[in-house]
Amino acid sequence: MLRGGCLCGGCRFEYTGEVGPANYCHCTDCRRSTGSAFNVGVRLRREHFLMVAGSPHTFTKAGDSGAALSRHFCPTCGSPLFTSSPRHPDWVYAKAGVLDDPLVVSPTHESWASSETPWARIPSGIARYGKNAGGVTTHGRTTDGEVVGPAGLEPATRPL
Ligand SMILES: [Zn+2]
Ligand SMILES: [Zn+2]
Repeated sequence: MLRGGCLCGGCRFEYTGEVGPANYCHCTDCRRSTGSAFNVGVRLRREHFLMVAGSPHTFTKAGDSGAALSRHFCPTCGSPLFTSSPRHPDWVYAKAGVLDDPLVVSPTHESWASSETPWARIPSGIARYGKNAGGVTTHGRTTDGEVVGPAGLEPATRPL
């Protein structure tokens, strides 16, 4: 049994089928909808995929092929959960990061490498911290002991 769900716990799913292949996708739609460098999707059989809590909201947009692609996400916390397409009605494509056990995923290839950002690959030489980076914010500035807010909160050009 594979289980997964969103950040707030309101949306939960269970899956009893075979875990299909996974891939990285660098397309601009995946980048925007995940808010990250790329999406990691894992193919699951729809007939074995069951939402056991919550009702994801859905946003549908045509993909590059022109076929509709629906992205399903938690209406409360916004976590992307899975993608579906009428073109492939037997499958859903779960976001690998929402699985309770992400170790079951082993991506086999990358798609849309033509749209990859230079920062999609983590340089091997940069500093690594086991938890939060000590003394450095996620925006790369030292705090010198004081709390530094997110960049957008300082000289904001318009209200958030
Ligand atoms: Zn949620
Ligand atoms: Zn994509």
